[in-house]
Amino acid sequence: MRYGEKILEIICTSSASGVHMTAEQIFLALKKECPSVVLATVYNNLNSLYQQGKIRKISLEGWPDRYDRNTRHDHLVCRCCGKLSDLYLSDITAQLEQQVGFPIEGYDLKLQYLCPECRAKQAAEEALSEPDGS
Ligand SMILES: [Zn+2]
Ligand SMILES: [Zn+2]
Repeated sequence: MRYGEKILEIICTSSASGVHMTAEQIFLALKKECPSVVLATVYNNLNSLYQQGKIRKISLEGWPDRYDRNTRHDHLVCRCCGKLSDLYLSDITAQLEQQVGFPIEGYDLKLQYLCPECRAKQAAEEALSEPDGS
């Protein structure tokens, strides 16, 4: 698990600073330290880390999967550029368990919004497409 430990370290370091890396980005980061590593090895290690419950995988339709540290937090997702931001909402596991009637292992909350950059871009585009009054 030489690569596995390094991959876990890369994910923990990047996600602690709010960055959610794709397998490809993790591969590039790992390659700096281990030039002989191949992408398939990264995928294999990511899968086994995920199966062991050591990392989280964030799947969004239309975007590559991103990997995250396995601590309880939720995400704010930009519906336009797919940007992920960490959110620390109160844990509702107990309420969910009460509603479904059996123990759950966890949940993944994604709140959709338009990030400030996309909102600004959209406003600029709207301003451009608007006839200028005359
Ligand atoms: Zn955005
Ligand atoms: Zn996160």
